[in-house]
Amino acid sequence: MARVLCVANQKGGVGKTTTAVNLACALAKAGNRTLLIDLDPQCNATTGLGLKPSPRHALLTSTPWKEALQPTYMADLQVLPGSRSFADVETLAAGGEANLEVLRRCLDQGTQSFDYVLIDCPPSMGDLTQTALAASTEVLMPIQCEYFAMEGLTQMIHVIRKIMQQGEGRLQFGGILLTMYDPSLELTHEVDEEVREFFGEIVFDTVIPRDVAVSEAPSYGQSVLDFAPRARGARAYVELCMEVLDRD
Ligand code: ADP
Ligand code: MG
Repeated sequence: MARVLCVANQKGGVGKTTTAVNLACALAKAGNRTLLIDLDPQCNATTGLGLKPSPRHALLTSTPWKEALQPTYMADLQVLPGSRSFADVETLAAGGEANLEVLRRCLDQGTQSFDYVLIDCPPSMGDLTQTALAASTEVLMPIQCEYFAMEGLTQMIHVIRKIMQQGEGRLQFGGILLTMYDPSLELTHEVDEEVREFFGEIVFDTVIPRDVAVSEAPSYGQSVLDFAPRARGARAYVELCMEVLDRD
């Protein structure tokens, strides 16, 4: 069965998309059949791999979404592109529970032919994220090493716990990832300590350093592993990939 990793945090700019894209590429490079689903209307995961967003999100139309999958420059990585149509999100919300259930089943059915599915969520804990969580086996939460890093976490964890209970144990905590790590800053060490004290061993040993190569790679339509394989950020995502594989 596929491991479905939902990359979620209600804050924007914490490294969700960067992590979803680079971890997906690292997993594919390690020979895993990998699918990256872009659920954020900003579509950065889609465009960051040099692909085009869809006019309507395939998960919310009647076409089988497998037909909407796009190949990437990597044989083992496919992408279900995002859509900028906010109408999609509204349709989903208007349909309430029923639509969420359809979306969840849709996700469930398509993930079976992959080893790993990564879902890049929008920066909110709203309907889209909750549906993605309900269809996932693990939640991976990037946390940016900055002031207020822990703000809003209790609320987020409350939502995650609720979905864990509803799903009868299907959803697990896959891990917490410290991003934009700058060891020269005292603040980074403070956040590191606080997060590890609060969450314990679910925090990944790997931290993702702040590295300009990581932020440049998407404008070349590539992962940082391809754009700058020797960069610290690229090595960190390979390390993270190994930790994720180990936690199977
Ligand atoms: P989110 O998806 O949570 O909104 P992104 O992954 O889009 O966050 O990251 C926000 C911004 O920070 C982007 O411009 C991205 O290129 C940059 N960024 C992310 N991770 C790093 C990093 N490790 N080093 C430098 N810049 C980063
Ligand atoms: Mg994003």
